[in-house]
Amino acid sequence: MRFLSTRGGVAPTGLSAALAAGLAPDGGLFVPERVPRLDPAGFPEDASLAATAAHLLAPFFEGDPLAGALDAVCAEAFAIAAPLRPLRGAGDFVLELFHGPTAAFKDFGARFLAACLERMPRDPARPLTVLVATSGDTGAAVAGAFHGREGMRVLILYPEGRVSPRQAQGLEAWGGNVRALRVAGSFDDCQRMVKAALADPALRARHPLGSANSISLGRWLPQAAYYAHAALGHWRTTGRPLGFVVPTGNLGNALAALLARRMGLPVGDIVLACNANRVLPDFFAGGAYVPVPSVATLANAMDVGAPSNFERLCWLEPDVDALRAALRAVPVDDAAIRDALRAAPARHGLVACPHTACALHALDAARAAGEGGDRAVVATAHPAKFESIVEPLVGHAVPVPPALAALLARPAQGMRVGTGADVIPAALDAAT
Ligand SMILES: *Cc1c(COP(=O)(O)O)cnc(C)c1O
Repeated sequence: MRFLSTRGGVAPTGLSAALAAGLAPDGGLFVPERVPRLDPAGFPEDASLAATAAHLLAPFFEGDPLAGALDAVCAEAFAIAAPLRPLRGAGDFVLELFHGPTAAFKDFGARFLAACLERMPRDPARPLTVLVATSGDTGAAVAGAFHGREGMRVLILYPEGRVSPRQAQGLEAWGGNVRALRVAGSFDDCQRMVKAALADPALRARHPLGSANSISLGRWLPQAAYYAHAALGHWRTTGRPLGFVVPTGNLGNALAALLARRMGLPVGDIVLACNANRVLPDFFAGGAYVPVPSVATLANAMDVGAPSNFERLCWLEPDVDALRAALRAVPVDDAAIRDALRAAPARHGLVACPHTACALHALDAARAAGEGGDRAVVATAHPAKFESIVEPLVGHAVPVPPALAALLARPAQGMRVGTGADVIPAALDAAT
């Protein structure tokens, strides 16, 4: 399979090159030249998540040097459990994606990308440095995924004081080949600094650079695997498709659910649960697509005013009416997030994180409107990561899962920096 840019300005590109590049050279996002169709009955029965992933992703790897490594990549990236559990309501489920090392779903995509990049030819004398600007979960997942890998380094930039204490710890706890810069500025400053570094040919000549943000093909494609696995398991036992309610910010995760459905998996309705950033709900309600600056909410990993995967959505479904028929988006404000967090233990038998709470609110609204169909709320992070929000609302401490406890116990080692153009070059030069 070869890959094209959503902007049409790039010659068909092999998978390895597209994974290494991150963003397409014309500024667009890499997409497969066609969406492969798979027969659900052709998936191996009783397969592990890793085996399901390998079957699902094989068409994308066909013809690429990485094809022979796909099984090993999947075994590594999908060694994390992704259980589908029933909730209290009939037909209600939760798909738990928070059992990885940093307790959020981004562990899957980050580990898949890292496992691919590690298997590509590299100059042993010059390590690849992955630059990440993060406002929380992405940086931790990428750090965890690359930590300790030969010939690769990670440089994280995050805005000081704008992430929760446990999120900051998740960024600063690694050491070794991972370094965290605490920027005295905003997330936009961090992103601008990373973009400038990636666009600096002189810097790139000294240091091979890569990116791992949410538009990376290597993070997007593998996320379809847990939807495929959950939907197949449900379909085999019930004969029915499984819908998903997906907490949504940059649209990467929800788009992976749509990809799985397009590939022929028994995926039902897909509902995007957004926070008070209404760009997607307004668009799906019939308005124009108008990116705006983001507003801060309790579900901070979804504080996105210009979802970076929107271009991929328009590529998957170019017809606007068909697109509005294919997906729905529900806005959930902070008051509704609080209500959902408070009600979740009694109503659903679940302690949720603020992002998952958006999906619970959307599920409750759909059921109240009389909508049937089996639906899984996608739990994108463990509630213990957001204990300062969750604990006062549920009235008790949230036990910390072992992986997160290990992360919290490590010494923090970030460095405070300014917002100047010299910050990243200085950090890279200092490390060699
Ligand atoms: C990143 C993130 C989201 C949003 O996912 P997108 O792929 O950007 O839509 C939701 N919840 C959590 C916990 C996240 O970390």
